[in-house]
Amino acid sequence: MSASAVCLTFHAIGGPEELPDPGGDPGSLRYLVGEDLLSGLLAKLDPSSSCTISELLEKRSGCWTVITFDDGFASDYNRALPILIKTGHRATFFVNSGNVGRAGYMSEAEIRSMAEAGMEIGSHGVNHIYLPPLADDAAKREVEESCKVLSEIVGSKIISYAPVGGHYTRRDVVNVKRAGYSAFVTMTPGVTRLPGPVKRNHIQRGYTLERALRIASGDRLLNAVNLVRYYGLLLPKKLLGLECYDRLKGAITASSRGSGGQR
Ligand SMILES: [Zn+2]
Repeated sequence: MSASAVCLTFHAIGGPEELPDPGGDPGSLRYLVGEDLLSGLLAKLDPSSSCTISELLEKRSGCWTVITFDDGFASDYNRALPILIKTGHRATFFVNSGNVGRAGYMSEAEIRSMAEAGMEIGSHGVNHIYLPPLADDAAKREVEESCKVLSEIVGSKIISYAPVGGHYTRRDVVNVKRAGYSAFVTMTPGVTRLPGPVKRNHIQRGYTLERALRIASGDRLLNAVNLVRYYGLLLPKKLLGLECYDRLKGAITASSRGSGGQR
């Protein structure tokens, strides 16, 4: 029997003040999860079945939970780490090397402390930008330079890579392999079945604990709903281009917030 896992993805933890630019991208609020949901969820999950992304790839059997955090926000250290330690879980943190030490993001010392506490540090690129639209040299730099900088910070090789937004091309997969990473994770929702691709499932603002637990258990119905939504959005993203799609989505989200349409 091969190993399987449900991988969960969080972003900033806490209130809107945790975002580096709380009034900026309205879409970023969608992924802002309160400490109560994170702690409630982790308290219900068995820490002995929890592992990091790099550990998952070593597994030959069993059903695992993998907790991941994207973007390297300061709340990873200030809010998520104490909850992880208290509940006995470990996690993988995907960090943009170009944001380290900036206001609202983790410092070098904090990232080192995370690694010393048993957390895995992975790369999310240098800048928080999509790989597919980049020229070849810029795309390669995102993958290689972030590996070098983050490896120097933690004092060991960075082996897991998560492309921004889960968007990548064949070129980017080749770059990631050549740079020496061994784990490449996607944002396709669903249950990961090794040796297949590592899928990840967003936990979003407004989710109830029950819904988050259903996702963490690999609930087939919720997986199917999320998968339909994911593939349904691929076509407009392709037609409009990723940046144009994001601008349109931001404008729609901002206007619905302004009219009281979004909580
Ligand atoms: Zn990101």
